[in-house]
Order: sequence, then structure tokens, then C-alpha cells
Amino acid sequence: MKLVVRVKLLPTPVQAAALEATLHACNEAATWAASVAFETKTQRPLQLRKHTYAEIRLRWQLGAQAAQHAIKKTCDAYTALRANLRAGRYGRPGSRRHTRAAGKPIAFRPQAAQPYDDRMLSWQHQARTVSIWTTGGRLKNVAFTGQAEQLEVLTQHRRGESDLVCQGGKWFLIATCDIDEAAPNAHPVGFVGVDLGIVNIAVTSDGARHCGRRVNRRREQDRKLRSKLQKKNTKSAKRRAKKYAGREARRNKDINHKISKRIVAEAERTGRGIALEQLTGIRERARLRKPQRTTLHSWPFAQLGAFIAYKAKRAGVPVVYVDPAYTSQECSQCHHIERGNRPSQARFSCRVCGFVDHADHNASHNIRQRGWMAWVCGARSTAPELTLIA
Ligand SMILES: [Zn+2]
Repeated sequence: MKLVVRVKLLPTPVQAAALEATLHACNEAATWAASVAFETKTQRPLQLRKHTYAEIRLRWQLGAQAAQHAIKKTCDAYTALRANLRAGRYGRPGSRRHTRAAGKPIAFRPQAAQPYDDRMLSWQHQARTVSIWTTGGRLKNVAFTGQAEQLEVLTQHRRGESDLVCQGGKWFLIATCDIDEAAPNAHPVGFVGVDLGIVNIAVTSDGARHCGRRVNRRREQDRKLRSKLQKKNTKSAKRRAKKYAGREARRNKDINHKISKRIVAEAERTGRGIALEQLTGIRERARLRKPQRTTLHSWPFAQLGAFIAYKAKRAGVPVVYVDPAYTSQECSQCHHIERGNRPSQARFSCRVCGFVDHADHNASHNIRQRGWMAWVCGARSTAPELTLIA
């Protein structure tokens, strides 16, 4: 399976200037190649190379590899555009959006991603540096950093090309890693149901409750601070608001890694699969009091779900997604469904059989049962092909 790892580069000012000049040159060259491709109607790499390679090398001083990647990037962009046009993502043929998208050559932003292969980029994992080609020569000892888990994956499994990209003035390398999967467990003895929530981020049918109050409190503090800064509307206030947003995102990611790791390890140890709610539309579905709304929108549910799925796939633990309708109102004992079964956010109390439980725990049991039913009825384990873990 493929994972995408993003590491942050820590270039010195001189190194950063060289990277910037390089990225600009590569994207200018690609934009020029795109205009040639548009005029001459040649969008295949081999043909386009005949028309553009020599001039790109001369005019933008790109190395042989960089020039080829710029040309290939151009062709890939046209392939993607054609697919999007065909799929109707720009409206119908003849519409204004469609005509505008199809009627002019593709242009690349000066800071758009540029692919690097192993001849242009080498990694020194021990020293945490890379050596990277630029238009001003090879840069050695460019430091990089990342979270421990990403760095470990990177050291052991990186394969093929990486993308150099500049986002918000910061430099990143986005590397693809190819990871061995354990043989999938074809005969799980049961399922662990996972309910993703707001007060409790994840509750399992085993009764494990992951992170509640403390995390939420910190998020609330961060959110208040951010909105205060946003009201100020000065340059430095905006900068600080951005910094806090980044810090919160990193903390959430770290928490999601830890929670998903524990849940998957438990399922693996006990020979079970994992049942998750199908998350699309969770924002539309959830009806919440106003203060809770911001909490829901700021918590990356989708990320936690994706982390569980990829760690499960790696460990050979089957994952099934279930329809989440009424999981919070259904009684996990007698299956009676009624809104009144849930008198408060935290409590579940069945109006028919009298069963009482923590609301999220009851929901996780429903998810577990639905997962098991789906599996028995022939559902297969599904996990995404590509996951961004950083
Ligand atoms: Zn009941």
C-alpha cells in the first residue's frame, strides 16, 4: 500500500533562495511547454519532448532530469484536465466554464509542486538532511524535520519520486512510501465498533474511551484565542492566529495517530475486524446546539477514520464501513429506535426495555453489530489506496 509523507525542509536563507529560483524556473518552463503543447496539439511526453526539451534546458538552465519532469508534469496536467472535462467537472461542453478551461493553455503557479527523482534528490536519514538539485547547483545538507512516526516510515519505505513544494512561505518534500501489508485476516472472530464523537473523540465497543475533556478544553482555548486575534485584524494578529491554527492541526494529528494505533492494535491482538461509520456527510447529518457546531467542524473526523483504515490495512485487520443512521438512537439490546431513548448528550436509556448505558458506548455497540452483519453478508474489507499521513 502507498502512503504519502510530508516533511518540512529547514533551509538556510541562501538555500531557500536557491530552492525558490529553481521552483520558479521549473514552473515557468512547464508553463511554456504547456503553451507549446496547446498550440501544436502535442500532449504526449515523447512528442512534446521533441518540441521543447532543448529549449527548456537552454533557456531555464534545467538539468536533464528536471527538464523531463517539467515536460511530463505538463502532459499529466493535460491528461487530468481532459479527464475532468469528460467527467463534467467544468459543466457541459459549450458552457462558459467548459469553454474557458478547454480554450486556453494550462499555466502553472510559480510555486507549484515539482517532481524530483532519486538522481536529483538523495536522503540522509541519519543526519536528517537531503541533498537536492537546484538551478544554482546541488544543495547539500538541507535539514528536514517531521513527526517521529513519519520519519520512521520515510526511512524504511520511501520509493520513487518526491515533490518539492512551497506552501505559505514554507518548504516541503512530499514523498511516496510503499509499505508491505500483513496478510489480511479473512476470518475475524468479531468486530470492534468505533463511534467517533465530539465529547469523546472515539469510543469503542470494548468500552475504551479516547480523550475527551482535556483535549476539548485546549481546543476551546485555542479557538477563543484565534477569534480574538481575528477580530484585531492587524498583520501580526493574523500571523499569530495562523500559528495557533497550525499548532492545533499538529496536535490533532498527533492525537489521531495515537488513538488509531491503540484501536488497531487491540483489534489485531484479539483477531477481530474494525467497524467504522461511513463518514461522508457527518456535518450535514449532525444536528447540534450552536456551541457544539464549531467543535464538530474543527475536529478532523475524516483524518482519524483514515488513520484507523491505513493502520488496519497494514496490520491485516479488516475494516468495514456501516451506515451510521440512528446509531445514537437505537437500543443495542432490543433494537428499538426512538429519539427519546437519548435523554441527554451522554446518556442512553431505552424507552422499551429499560437498558441504560453511556450514549457513545451504546452507539459503538450498534456499529459493531452492523459491521458484523455486513461482514457475514459478504462485505469486504475496504481501505483507501493512498493515505496522507503528514
Ligand atoms: Zn431496548
